[in-house]
Amino acid sequence: MAITRPSTLVVESERREIPSVMRAAVYRGVNDVRLEEVPVPEIGPGEILVRVHTCGICGTDLKKIATGSHSAPRIFGHEFSGVVAKVGEGVRKFSIGERVVVFHHIPCGECYYCRHKTFAQCATYKKVGCTAGFEASGGGFAEYVRVMDWIVEKGTVRIPDGVSFEQACFVEPVNTCIKGIETLGLQAEETVLVIGQGPIGLILATLAKRLGARVITSDLHPARLTIANSFGLKLTIDASKVDAGEVVRGMTEGRGADAVILAVGGSGLIRPAMDAARPGGRVLLFAQTVRGEAAIDPAAVCVDEKALLGSYSASVELQEESVRFVMNREMDLERLISHRFALQSGVEALNLAAHPQADSMKIVIQPGSEWEGHQL
Ligand SMILES: [Zn+2]
Ligand SMILES: [Zn+2]
Repeated sequence: MAITRPSTLVVESERREIPSVMRAAVYRGVNDVRLEEVPVPEIGPGEILVRVHTCGICGTDLKKIATGSHSAPRIFGHEFSGVVAKVGEGVRKFSIGERVVVFHHIPCGECYYCRHKTFAQCATYKKVGCTAGFEASGGGFAEYVRVMDWIVEKGTVRIPDGVSFEQACFVEPVNTCIKGIETLGLQAEETVLVIGQGPIGLILATLAKRLGARVITSDLHPARLTIANSFGLKLTIDASKVDAGEVVRGMTEGRGADAVILAVGGSGLIRPAMDAARPGGRVLLFAQTVRGEAAIDPAAVCVDEKALLGSYSASVELQEESVRFVMNREMDLERLISHRFALQSGVEALNLAAHPQADSMKIVIQPGSEWEGHQL
């Protein structure tokens, strides 16, 4: 008897009528997200419609919701995987029923910023190419997303058989982490301290270890350090009890870490992160996405020659590497998911993500959990 592959099952179940309305978690203003009924987006030539299975909640989604940095209404969610439900005229690359994951930003490749490889600053890159309605903002917190032509061409990736929608939705966050590690210029044998062991901190730490660095991780929640241990990260510091900088200096003949990655938001930890770096070392700000002012010791930069670096968003040049890392399951990313919410409970999911508990790691919204005969 032939073995039925998961993708085949999905293909069959996708030969379905696309409804005219769908549910979506709609951002209506600061800290105001509502579950609403909205029209299923129409697609044009060169575009595809993706039926969302899983969408990760990203720190940047939460920031936009909490600060009102973007106009309302919008439908956020950019870390999504799903099934092609409809293809527009002229689309050759994809057909109905294929499982895909989507990068919502793709740079033009030609402007000043692209030529200088600072893709995240490209105007085309800043233009979001996926929408579930309203101003394009990702759209993954809805049942269907319209994927625009340049994203179909360059930013849509097929999910191989045997790889789950959950694993696949980490392609974009993994890309941002690989970019961060590259920006830091981390070398094998170097000692790196990763502050914060949420899902992103854990991915960063795992990538650093894969490079051959000596990785030390710290977090205020011992439960997170236990998870880090389970990913083979054995050098952990419980920052609720001891000063991480002091411990790191104790482990490096008093010097401090060659590199420090700050994977926790806010600016209060910038100074301690710099203190934990050795003279001439580097500090990468990975989660400082809110503008404002922060305290630093200017002599740490000038006299101690410590470099303060930043990395934001993904790089198109690292797309293949991030896809390989995720699809080859070099890290069991599904294991980072602590909470799965149906779209119906999307608002609750966003609330929990905004107020993380000791046991909450990656939180995902899964419209696909309600699919008939759904395949994770
Ligand atoms: Zn993200
Ligand atoms: Zn460009």
